[in-house]
Amino acid sequence: MMLSGSGSSVMWFRKGLRIHDNPALQLASQGASHLYPLFVVDPHYMEPDPTSFSPGSSRAGLNRIKFLLESLVDLDLSLKSLGSRLLVLKGDPAEVLIRCLKEWNVRKLCFEYDTEPYYQALDTKVKNFAVGAGIEVCSPVSHTLFNPTEIIERNGGKPPLTYQSFIKIAGQPPPPLTITHSSLPPVGILGSCDVSEVPTLEDLGYGDAKQDEFSPFKGGESEALKRLAECMKDKAWVAKFEKPKGDPSAFLKPATTVLSPYLKFGCLSSRYFYQQIQDVYETMPKHTSPPVSLSGQLLWRDFFYTVAFGTPNFDRMKDNKICKQIPWKDDDKLLEAWRDGRTGFPWIDAIMVQLRQWGWMHHLARHCVACFLTRGDLFVHWERGRDVFERLLIDADWAINNGNWLWLSCSSFFYQYNRIYSPTSFGKKYDPNGDYIRHFLPVLKDMPKQYIYEPWSAPLSIQTKANCIIGKDYPKPVVLHDSASKECKRKMGEAYALSKELDGVVSEDDLKNLRRKLHEGEEQETKSKRSKNTAV
Ligand code: FAD
Repeated sequence: MMLSGSGSSVMWFRKGLRIHDNPALQLASQGASHLYPLFVVDPHYMEPDPTSFSPGSSRAGLNRIKFLLESLVDLDLSLKSLGSRLLVLKGDPAEVLIRCLKEWNVRKLCFEYDTEPYYQALDTKVKNFAVGAGIEVCSPVSHTLFNPTEIIERNGGKPPLTYQSFIKIAGQPPPPLTITHSSLPPVGILGSCDVSEVPTLEDLGYGDAKQDEFSPFKGGESEALKRLAECMKDKAWVAKFEKPKGDPSAFLKPATTVLSPYLKFGCLSSRYFYQQIQDVYETMPKHTSPPVSLSGQLLWRDFFYTVAFGTPNFDRMKDNKICKQIPWKDDDKLLEAWRDGRTGFPWIDAIMVQLRQWGWMHHLARHCVACFLTRGDLFVHWERGRDVFERLLIDADWAINNGNWLWLSCSSFFYQYNRIYSPTSFGKKYDPNGDYIRHFLPVLKDMPKQYIYEPWSAPLSIQTKANCIIGKDYPKPVVLHDSASKECKRKMGEAYALSKELDGVVSEDDLKNLRRKLHEGEEQETKSKRSKNTAV
């Protein structure tokens, strides 16, 4: 006699919140008598943390939590249309899952393979239990185009550290799955497991959370597929896509796809996205190529995933072999001014307000604020900026976020620290009237065009007329860009020289000494400036 539930499978959703091209779901449903589609609400990730600098949990801002809940609701609806439903449980994911596996007499456990350190640790725990209990575990790779493990193996055990070498090794990605589900096995008996519907923000305790504006981007696979179809309809746009030519100030109609949050949560399969782009290319006489093309953007994503997976301590400077050791400052005041959009540079502040309100900004806008915080002007540690992005972005992604912060701070991948984005003239090239600034910083909405990027230079009469007194209604600049960027370049130069001298092996003591040397240099300069002023 077959034990009840002996043919049951659990499909554990984490990312991969979709039905299409979902190999784990396919494996879980194949031949199963019952299917338990499960999502665990991890209080660590979802519980309100009133001590954080913005509404949300200790790890995620409210916009991203909302996006996730919307994605879960959409997934639940899709599962319901296939005769199933999403089972939501709350608690420590490993504990909850192990409890369910025991209760439901499961034969097979399926979940998407995840390269992030957090999931690697969690999955080992769960897998160990499952294997010990005689449960088959399937964990296919489907979050990325390629399997990072295979790429690293093919590269002799190390991740390729340049985009070009990555592309050469990677080749063509596998196609997405073509099967579509017309129905799924029914959910089995739930027993004593405390299953609920997808919670609302109120259920999670966010009823009182104050947020002026929520992100205009709604979560879920349905939204993702709609957005993708909309983008692919404009074939000429897809074929001509050249990332560096996009306008970072375009906000009514962003210059790129805004599919990143959907890729982050796996509401959209990157393989399906890639294939859709190839289908468009085939119908066009010519198209752009990587790294600037649209398919090239997906390859950037896989590039960072692979390097992140193969690099110990990828998310920090210390003990990270590919990260330059730079004596960054830990200046809370400067960090907060940047984080809260109060640097006094409207272009920078507007981007940071867009981050807080929308959880998404154009890639070049991210470049500008990341450069400004680190090697461009403030010389604050990239890890601090990374944390702010990680909290506020709806597309916050461990591998991509860390990878890009390493890049922008000239800590890895890119080393031309003399190339700095001007916080005043860069945005002006795209948006001379400052419409983007006027939208996200309404306090400056009446500032005349010639002063909108440098309002401190407007005569007081103009400031009065524009209802915006600099230093009162809007802050004065936190630094003088010319001298601050010069100083940053000098420090970067010293750090690079030290790294060269020590063959890249810079200890904490070496860094401390360099910090001291730079500090003494700064003091010397201030003194000589002061004495020059007295002499005059
Ligand atoms: P599109 O241009 O339409 O590109 C399509 C997809 O390609 C994106 O959705 C994304 O998945 C991928 N992609 C595009 N650019 C990059 C890139 N440079 N690196 C890796 N993948 C890329 N992107 C994130 O998804 N999550 C992050 O946490 C993140 N943090 C960043 C931090 C900094 C400091 C910088 C400079 C960039 C960061 N990016 C991040 C990369 C990039 O800015 C976004 O992926 C992109 O702006 C998302 O918009 P889109 O979907 O319209 O992009």
